[in-house]
Order: sequence, then structure tokens, then C-alpha cells
Amino acid sequence: MSQKINVTIWNEFRHEKEKEAVKKIYPEGMHSAIAKGIAADDLNIRTATLDEPEHGLTEEVVENTDVMLWWGHCHHKDVADEVVKRVQRRVLEGMGLIVLHSGHYSKIFKALTGTTCSLKWREVAEKERLWNVAPAHPITQGIGEYFELPNEEMYGEPFGIPEPDELIFIGWFEGGEVFRSGAAFRRGNGKIFYFQPGHETYPVYYNENVLRVIGNAVRWAAPLVRIKDAAPNVEPLEKISPKNVSFGKAGVLQTPEL
Ligand code: ZN
Repeated sequence: MSQKINVTIWNEFRHEKEKEAVKKIYPEGMHSAIAKGIAADDLNIRTATLDEPEHGLTEEVVENTDVMLWWGHCHHKDVADEVVKRVQRRVLEGMGLIVLHSGHYSKIFKALTGTTCSLKWREVAEKERLWNVAPAHPITQGIGEYFELPNEEMYGEPFGIPEPDELIFIGWFEGGEVFRSGAAFRRGNGKIFYFQPGHETYPVYYNENVLRVIGNAVRWAAPLVRIKDAAPNVEPLEKISPKNVSFGKAGVLQTPEL
């Protein structure tokens, strides 16, 4: 690829400021850890956070983003609807979106899936084994049959998402539940990947497999096209023979004949 992929990593970035345990793991925020973890020559990475003006997602930033990552948790409601619409419109045009962990309940993921995105959860630092069920998929390259996280929050089925277009990972938890931990969707011209790992009190975004999956997902989700919502009225490609009939036209007001 000759052109770099413009990546915007969005993070709520409040737990890291408010909770000592999270601050210890991510002193500069999860967004910074992910940015450092996936840094590569083909990626042009910037970050944005909730408390910046327009949540750091101004028209200019969203306009110039190829792939957006989204981590949110307790403050989904604080994300302005206008910004959600802006991001949604860009996804439909072709921008990639990677929704991480508790971002399952974000306004943007709910808007794009149209479902509850509900799940079961439990926080006891249990082990998770993520099974790679799509070994030929671009997102799983370099990942073996499975990888493990020593400590994760349990997310369990039923997960209130639409049937994924592609199921990439199934997570199994020490307590016995399973979860669709990696699921890919297409909405409009955009690709969406939901990836479950990333609870804020465990150092998940330093795990090399997690970072590899995110990096792979960024490249997979990079746009191939950009098509704006325009609904144009167009001239015909071929000459159309005149028709000896009179029909009304949609959208054209006509005076009723008396
Ligand atoms: Zn969590």
C-alpha cells in the first residue's frame, strides 16, 4: 500500500484519570497504549478522547479517518448524538470501525447494529481462551488456533448483536461461558469489527496477540471505496425513444387538470 492508513483511536479516557488501579496500568490512557502497540510504518495514528471539544471527533478529524477504534464504558450517554451521526455516516461511506470491549454498549455500535448489544458479565479476573474460528481471515493472520488471556472480565452469550457477517473468535471463559469475542459486520461500504478483550483493570492492551489482532483488523477495515449518500437524479446513458404518453413526475408539483 502506497498511502498510509489514517487511524483514529477514540477512548472515553475517564477510568484512567479516576481509578487508581487503571491509572497504574495505563498512565497515559488505553488509547496511548494501543497507539504504541500497533504503531507501524503504514499507519498514521492519532487519538481522540471524550472530554476534548466535540470528543476530538470534529468534522475534519472524522473526514480524514480511514479506520476508527472505539473504547467506551461508563459514559456512553455523554457522547453527543451529533458526533455519533457523523461517525455513522462515515462508516456507511466506507470508513472502518473497530469496537473494543465495553464499546459493545456505545451509541455508535448500537446505531450501526440496530440491536440491544446486551451481554452477560462477571468480573473475577478469570482466564479466557480465544479460539480462532476463521484461520483464513485477514484479522487472524499470525494468530494460532487459539490464544489465552490470564485475566479478563467474562462476557457471555447471549450477545444481542445481529448475526455477524463473519465470526472470527469464540471466547471461552474459565467459569464456563462462551462469547462471540470477534465478530465482523458490513454496514453500507464500511467494515466493522467487534473485539471483546480489553477490560480496563487488566493489562490486556499490552498483550501481543491482542495487539496483532487489532493491527490486522485496522488493515482489513481500511476503506476500499468512499461513496457519499447523494441519491442523484441522472441523465440516461442511452438515447430513450420518445413515449406518446403523459405521466406525472415524482417530486414535481402539477396543477390538476380541470
Ligand atoms: Zn470491562
